[in-house]
Amino acid sequence: MTTADKPTVLIVGAGLCGLMLGTLLERIDVPYVIFERTSTIKSLGSAISVGCPVLALFQQLGIYEELVSVGFRTGYSQYIVSRPALYDLLLKQIPAHKVLLKKRILTILEEDDRATIQAADNTVYEGDLLVGADGAYSAVRQRLYEKLKVKGLLPKVDDEELPFNCTCLVGQTEPLDIEEFPILKNSFSQFLIVRGIDIPYMMCDETRHLQTSVKVGDKYLTVGDFYDRTPQELVSKVMLEEKVFETWYHGRTVLLGDGW
Ligand SMILES: Cc1cc2nc3c(=O)[nH]c(=O)nc-3n(C[C@H](O)[C@H](O)[C@H](O)COP(=O)(O)OP(=O)(O)OC[C@H]3O[C@@H](n4cnc5c(N)ncnc54)[C@H](O)[C@@H]3O)c2cc1C
Repeated sequence: MTTADKPTVLIVGAGLCGLMLGTLLERIDVPYVIFERTSTIKSLGSAISVGCPVLALFQQLGIYEELVSVGFRTGYSQYIVSRPALYDLLLKQIPAHKVLLKKRILTILEEDDRATIQAADNTVYEGDLLVGADGAYSAVRQRLYEKLKVKGLLPKVDDEELPFNCTCLVGQTEPLDIEEFPILKNSFSQFLIVRGIDIPYMMCDETRHLQTSVKVGDKYLTVGDFYDRTPQELVSKVMLEEKVFETWYHGRTVLLGDGW
C-alpha cells in the first residue's frame, strides 16, 4: 500500500485497547487519531497481570524490556504491572498530537463509505474506519446497535442488558516499609490469594479478620492490616458486568476490548 491508499482510523477511547491499537498502527504507519472523553489519560484499577500471549506482543513491538523493567515477576513468563506504568509505556509510543482529549463522542454516522463521528463539543471528524474502544458502556456500540435494530439486523441477544455479576473492591496500599516487610526484598514477587469460605457477600468489614500468609515478626497479618495501610483515594469499587456481544463489527465500524 502507498501512504495515500491507507485508511484513516478513528479510535474512540484511550484505554488499554485504544492505546495498544494506536501503538500498532503507529508501527505500520497507518494514519489514526484517538478520541478520549477525559481531560487526562487515567488508568483503571491498580495493577494488571500480563502473561505469555501479551508478552509476545510487547516483544514484537520491541518494548518488552521496558515492560519487564516496570513489572514484577509473578511466575514463569508472568508479570504484574501497575496500571499507570503500563499506560505510560503505551502512551510513549504514540505522538501526543494523535490523542485528542476532552472529546466525548456522542454520535456516529456512515455515509458514502466514510465513517463520521461527532463529539460533545460539536466537532466532527471523518475517517475510513471507526473503532469503538470506549469500554464496557461503549457509546459507539450503543449507537451502532440502535441503527442495526432499526434495520432489523441486531440479534436479540445483543439487545439485552449487561448482566450484573458482582462487586469488586480494588486498592493499593501505601508504600510499605521494606524492613517491616522483608518479603519485599525478594527479587521474585509473590501473588497471594486469600479466600474466605462461606462468606457469600464479602466486603471490608466481613473480611478484615481473614489471615494472610504475610508474617511480620511472629504474627501473621490479616486482610484488615492491609486495608488499614490503604489510603481511601486508592480504593475503587467496581461493579462487574460481563457479557460478550455477538455483533462486533458492521460496515465501517468495529468494536474492540470491553466495548465488545
Ligand atoms: C478493577 C479492574 C481490574 C482489572 N484487572 C485486570 C487484570 O488484572 N488483567 C486483565 O487482563 N484485565 C483486567 N481488567 C479488565 C481490563 O481492565 C479491561 O478489560 C480493559 O481495561 C479494557 O480496556 P478497554 O480499552 O477496552 O476499555 P477501558 O479501559 O474501559 O477504556 C475505555 C476508554 O474509553 C473512554 N471513553 C468511554 N466512552 C467514551 C466516549 N463516548 N468518547 C470518548 N472516549 C470514551 C474512557 O474514558 C476510557 O479511557 C480489570 C478491570 C477492572 C475494572
